[in-house]
Amino acid sequence: MNPPNKSQLKIRTRFAPSPTGYLHVGGARTALYCYLFARQNAGEFVLRVEDTDEQRSTEDSMRQQLSDLKWLGYAYQEGVDADTLNDRGPYGPYRQSQRLAIYREYADRLLKEGKAYYCFLSDEEIAEQRAQAERAGRPHQVVSPYRNWSLKDAEKKIADGGVSPTVRFRVSDLNREYKFRDLVRGDVTFPSDMVGDFVLLRSGGMPVYNFCCVIDDALMKISHVLRAEEHLSNTLRQLMLYEALDFEPPQFGHLSIILGPDRQKLSKRHGATSVHEYRERGYLPEALSNFIALLGWSSPKGQEILSMSELIEQFSLDRLHPAAAVFDEAKLKWVNAQHLRALPHSELWNLIEPFLTRAGLQMPEDANWRERSLQLFKTSMEVLSDAVELYRPLSISGANGGFTVHDEARETLSWPSTVKVVEEWRKQLETAASKSTSAYLSEEEFATIQNNVKSNCAVKGKELFMPIRVAVLGKPHGAELKILVPLIEKSILIERAKIVLDHILRG
Ligand code: GLU
Repeated sequence: MNPPNKSQLKIRTRFAPSPTGYLHVGGARTALYCYLFARQNAGEFVLRVEDTDEQRSTEDSMRQQLSDLKWLGYAYQEGVDADTLNDRGPYGPYRQSQRLAIYREYADRLLKEGKAYYCFLSDEEIAEQRAQAERAGRPHQVVSPYRNWSLKDAEKKIADGGVSPTVRFRVSDLNREYKFRDLVRGDVTFPSDMVGDFVLLRSGGMPVYNFCCVIDDALMKISHVLRAEEHLSNTLRQLMLYEALDFEPPQFGHLSIILGPDRQKLSKRHGATSVHEYRERGYLPEALSNFIALLGWSSPKGQEILSMSELIEQFSLDRLHPAAAVFDEAKLKWVNAQHLRALPHSELWNLIEPFLTRAGLQMPEDANWRERSLQLFKTSMEVLSDAVELYRPLSISGANGGFTVHDEARETLSWPSTVKVVEEWRKQLETAASKSTSAYLSEEEFATIQNNVKSNCAVKGKELFMPIRVAVLGKPHGAELKILVPLIEKSILIERAKIVLDHILRG
C-alpha cells in the first residue's frame, strides 16, 4: 500500500515529544529506535517539539526532555537544540507553536477544496449529541449540520462576528478502507467510518496533533515514523490527511506497549517512569539505552548486554516485535551493574563524584587512593548512587572528618574490656605509623594489628571486633573493616581512636 517514495530515498526519522511532562522511558525508547535506525542507514534524525497544547506545554518540560535526550546521547542532526533552544536544520521552525501560519495555510487549502469545513457547533451541542448516542447505545461521532454549508456562507457568518468556529475534516464522504503495512505489525486495515468528521483547527485557530503531525512529517521529509502503539488509531486520520493534501505518506511502525510487572500499562504507580528519575538515581545512559532497546527488539546474536555501538550495528526494524514488553526494574539494575563494572576507573570516578558531593562527602584527592577504593567497591555498586553509602565512612569533610560516635555504639562502649581494646588499637596504630612512611595500613598490616590487640588484651569475637569497628566507624555495624581500614589514613584512624577513648572517659 505504501510504495517506497522515490524522491525520499534518504532515511529520515523524527522524535516528536510533547513538552507536557518528563521524558517517559517509552518516549526514550521511541527516540532510541529512531536514532539507531537513522544512524545505521546514514540517515538523519530530527527532533520536533509538539507543543500545540497550550494549557499543558511548558518550556521547562521542553528543556528537561531535551536535556535528558542529550544525556542519553541520541544526537539529532535537526531540531531544537538542547542548550540554546534554537533551531538547527533546513526545515524549521521545529517547534509546532512557531509553525501556526503553515498549518493555517493548509487548512485554508482544504477549506477551499471542500475537504474541510467550518463548524459552528458549540461544546454543549456536541455534548448533547454524545449523550443521545449513549442513550441509544451507539458509538458517538459528531454529525455537524454545517458540513453542507458553502464556504461563502460560513465566511459570512464569521465576518458577522460573535462566533469562533472549528475547522473539521470531511470524513463522511470517503466511505472506504484505508490500508497500510505497519513496520512492526504487518498489514493494517481501517474502515474510514471508524471516525467522524474530526477537528483540524480548534475554535481560536489552534491546530490539533493529527493535522500538524501530517504537515510536518511531509514538509520535513520524514521517511519512517516510529511511535507508540497508542497512535495506531491516529494513523487512519493521518492517512486521510496525506491523501487530501496530496502528500506521500511515510512508512509507519507502531511499537509494542510497555507494561509494568502486573501487566498493566506502565505508569507512575509502578515507580519511576521518567528518564530523569533514572538519571538522578545513578543509572548510566548506555545501560538505560541497552535496557529499553530490549523492550520491543532483540539482538540477532541473543546479547543482553550491548554497547551503543553494538546497538547501532545490530538494530533492525525487522526484529521489532509487536508483543507487549514488561518493564522489569530488577533487570534494569542488573544491566546497569554490568555497564558500570565495565567502565574504566577514571571515568567511573568522575561519574560517582557528583553523587558523593551532593551527599556532602569529600574524598582524598589521591588518584591512587581512588583507584584502590574503586577496585574494592566496584562490585558492590549497581547504580552510581550506591557509592554514597559505601564511601560515607571514608569521607574527610567536616569536623573530625565527619567522624562521630553514634548512639548505636553505646552498648559496645559499656563493656568493661572496650577501653582496653581501643587503647591497644591506638597504640598499635601509633607503632605502625612510626615504623612505615606509608600513610595507609595494608590489609596484612591491619590483620597483624588486630591479632596483636587480640593477644595483648586477651579478648576475642565480639569483644575484639565491635570496639575496633566503633573506633573506625563510630558504630558497631557497617562495611567490612578489612576493606575500609586500608583506605583511611593511619593518622585519621589514630584521631578517631582518641575521640572514642575521650567519649568513654567522659562517660
Ligand atoms: N507528540 C506525540 C506524542 O508525544 C507524537 C506522536 C507521533 O510520534 O506522531 O505522543
